[in-house]
Amino acid sequence: MKPLQELVRPNIWKLKPYSSARDEYSGSSASVFLDANENPYNTPNNRYPDPLQRDVKKGIGKIKGVPVGNIFLGNGSDEAIDLAYRVFCEPRVDNVVAIDPTYGMYQVCADINEVAYRKVLLDDRFQFKAEDLLAASDERTKLMFLCSPNNPTGNNLCREEIERLLRGFEGIVIVDEAYIDFSEARSFLPDLAKYPNLIVLQTFSKAWGCAAIRLGMAFASEDIIALFNKVKYPYNVNLLTQKQASEMVLRHYEVDRWVKTLKEERAWLEERFRALPCVERIFPSDANFFLARVTDACAVYDYLVSRGVIVRNRNSVALCGNCLRVTVGTRLENEKLLEALEKYK
Ligand SMILES: *Cc1c(COP(=O)(O)O)cnc(C)c1O
Repeated sequence: MKPLQELVRPNIWKLKPYSSARDEYSGSSASVFLDANENPYNTPNNRYPDPLQRDVKKGIGKIKGVPVGNIFLGNGSDEAIDLAYRVFCEPRVDNVVAIDPTYGMYQVCADINEVAYRKVLLDDRFQFKAEDLLAASDERTKLMFLCSPNNPTGNNLCREEIERLLRGFEGIVIVDEAYIDFSEARSFLPDLAKYPNLIVLQTFSKAWGCAAIRLGMAFASEDIIALFNKVKYPYNVNLLTQKQASEMVLRHYEVDRWVKTLKEERAWLEERFRALPCVERIFPSDANFFLARVTDACAVYDYLVSRGVIVRNRNSVALCGNCLRVTVGTRLENEKLLEALEKYK
């Protein structure tokens, strides 16, 4: 890895961050708070929340086995993705490399930040070669985006290739593990100390059942986390979200149960899908969804909409011609989907 200072935008490296009232006094012995122009009434929503979300991070750190100093929390993973661009990528100068197809936000954030986005097509098994990503990079490549299990394909990326990239790339490698709880593959979290250029993304939106509260996690070296903290909005995670997240940490056994159920349900739904005349192929998935190639994705999609069942039409995505992405629901929801498909045409 290049020295961090060479990877970070010069203005961000020099940035003196906003210092909030809660940054300047964060002790616990005071009882009178007259420092933030808050309204003294309407407890507890009158007070600014902890800018560094320390309680939530302690809970997450225990579950994930990661020290608090290596955790960043944001308004969804999308905040962490955007911050990676704003911290590392000089608009119109730097570029990033990503696999294709993958999660759409990497490109949207690149476009918003005017950073060139270089796509490298996966092979027919939705896998990549580290050397192909390295060949697409140059001295201005700051970030590489990997997503494992990948969205919308559902498969794990080959661990050896990810490791090859972590060792061979001089910039930052972002491994998006939004679906890792559903996967049989090992997370990269235990390897954070081994790879100073690694950022692992996870989220409360999928296995944790908390898409509504908007809470994303980034795990990285203390130096990278400090840069994210410097650039983020001071109170980027609101109090209601912090409270709900802390409660979910205590109820983590529920997440484990949901994951177990959804994996069983996925296997059942895939099995049933194979028997459908309009289904040509189901791609192996390690996530809470799977990709299915059908006879005519647009026709099947429209038909399902007319029956009140919504899946994701991925027909226009690279390598996903005539593919629908199906999220695994409850048994009842899955049965409604199957019932509709059995009556198709
Ligand atoms: C759903 C998803 C996320 C989650 O984004 P949030 O902003 O945390 O809701 C992140 N990455 C991928 C690949 C996803 O599919």
